[in-house]
Amino acid sequence: MKCPYCNYVESKVTDSRTSMDGQAIKRRRECLKCDKRFTTFETIDLSVQVQKRDGTFEDFKQEKLQDGIMAACRHTRVSHDKVKALAYHICADLMSKQVREITTKDLGDIVMDHLQEIDMVAYIRFACVYKRFKDIKDFLDAIHSIKNKNESCREKNKIIDEENIYGAQKK
Ligand SMILES: [Zn+2]
Repeated sequence: MKCPYCNYVESKVTDSRTSMDGQAIKRRRECLKCDKRFTTFETIDLSVQVQKRDGTFEDFKQEKLQDGIMAACRHTRVSHDKVKALAYHICADLMSKQVREITTKDLGDIVMDHLQEIDMVAYIRFACVYKRFKDIKDFLDAIHSIKNKNESCREKNKIIDEENIYGAQKK
């Protein structure tokens, strides 16, 4: 694990902790050369094949999953650490279920289930990419389905103000 400041390869662990539901291992490390501290997350080497929309397969990469989630979470209240923890959590879950093959659609659905709990803006962004909304109606249908699911959770719904989305589209 290279130091992000000086690229030195050796560091010591100063603190380890678990996050999410106790699966994601987050470590504080200290560089043995420049003494700066940084955080690392465990990654899992999964031998899972991902089937893409065109039917072809590719190796599952935790990093790629993480990048996809990161893009959806840009400019939201979701931190990079939380995205990394989520990617790890999803990988650990696939491993514990001994998944060998998964479609991009199923993987996208798993991510969306989690994002829905974390941040609505990130959820919608991710859904836009994965569901490939054709028009504004698809988009609004998705928002309606969230609103129905979360009717009891007012705090989350504050993030998405449907009136504003309507207004923005009309202009
Ligand atoms: Zn260093």
